Amino acid sequence: MNKSEMLFAEAVEHIPGGVNSPVRAFGSVGETPRFIASAKGAYMTDTDGQTYLDFVGSWGPMILGHNHPKVLADVLEACREGLSFGAATEREVEMAELICSIVPSIEMVRMVNSGTEAVMSAIRAARGFTGRNKIIKFAGCYHGHSDAMLVKAGSGVMTAGIPDSAGVPAGCTQDTLTAVYNDLDSVQAIFDQFKGEVAAVIVEPVAANMGVVLPKKGFLQGLRRLCNENGSLLIFDEVITGFRLSLSGAQGYFDIEPDLTTFGKIIGGGMPVGAYGGRKDVMKLIAPSGPVYQAGTLSGNPVAMAAGLAQLKLLQETPEFYEELNHKADVFFEGMQEAVRAAGKPWVVNHIGSLGSIFFTDGPVTNYAEAKTSDTAKFGEYFSYMIQNGIYLAPSQFEAMFLSAAMTEDELEKTLDIFKAYLGQR
Ligand code: PLP
Repeated sequence: MNKSEMLFAEAVEHIPGGVNSPVRAFGSVGETPRFIASAKGAYMTDTDGQTYLDFVGSWGPMILGHNHPKVLADVLEACREGLSFGAATEREVEMAELICSIVPSIEMVRMVNSGTEAVMSAIRAARGFTGRNKIIKFAGCYHGHSDAMLVKAGSGVMTAGIPDSAGVPAGCTQDTLTAVYNDLDSVQAIFDQFKGEVAAVIVEPVAANMGVVLPKKGFLQGLRRLCNENGSLLIFDEVITGFRLSLSGAQGYFDIEPDLTTFGKIIGGGMPVGAYGGRKDVMKLIAPSGPVYQAGTLSGNPVAMAAGLAQLKLLQETPEFYEELNHKADVFFEGMQEAVRAAGKPWVVNHIGSLGSIFFTDGPVTNYAEAKTSDTAKFGEYFSYMIQNGIYLAPSQFEAMFLSAAMTEDELEKTLDIFKAYLGQR
């Protein structure tokens, strides 16, 4: 037994499934989780001293690579000043101003501690503003683990093949209506059925929790139009796409203004952070300025703000950052697709910006039903081959590959070679 295997054997005794978040388990790919000891730049090292090129990036936050020296320095400085005050700080003002200056649709923003909290709170704000209860979401999209959102969710829930979660009372999901991603008619049909009852449509503007699924041309614009026509709010869940597809996220990339936006991951630079924000007339309803209650002991934590501010400023101060990263990623993902073609396989590589996924099915993959046709046993074989060759991928078919700016063209080229070797063996 190596150290990771020993740690896992101990972990399952005291932590459910041996992990603190289901996506970290390697069960669906028939492996034991690697226990990570440290990470730097594009690499992570496990407790057995094995080093991996990391395509997970802590599930999104580490867009600059691990332990960027500037982020680390600012975090250490903040730590010296105090870990938490439970009182207002200058960094929170700076963070709010920075987000509002970067993302045009955001006039006011509230910091929370996770993407789950951000979504839960944005939905409460939308319900408070409209006086309506129903929410439209899309099958295969994941919006965190709050009760109302665990309906046909993507991510770990999808991998486990569980459409809902035990412990969620039917009453909590009765107002959650599910439409088909990329199918405006399915959204229209819900609006027709529940006239005047829909508070908001929430969507991942690029779905990244059923594997990466791109919005078809006109889909997001169509949602904007339907929301306008029906007096409902449009919520973009940019927990993954925010500050990743472009500095102003998917909304900047596709040039669409949602009413509310949720963030997480990159905005915290690796610390536990989320945020929600948008139109002032909606956000003003949040307590203490309005009647929609939402709070948090550690919200706006000074160390987390220092990490997030450092990362966001680095992204903002490098004008060519996204062009370079997205170009590098395009070359890589196109290389994967080309290798698949050359091997005579029908498999599909969906990608946009620094996000991508391979589906072991003959495509296209444009929604949850199509994503589910991927051969997950084949994914398991691919995953095992890659990790044995030093490539750390998300241990699930239904997650994204996250590229970071720390990865060199050389490293991506080597990854392609390993992928080609995998294809040659099949
Ligand atoms: N929304 C999206 C799109 C996500 O991908 C995630 C997590 O992966 C969440 C919300 C929940 O965020 P967190 O895990 O920080 O609670």
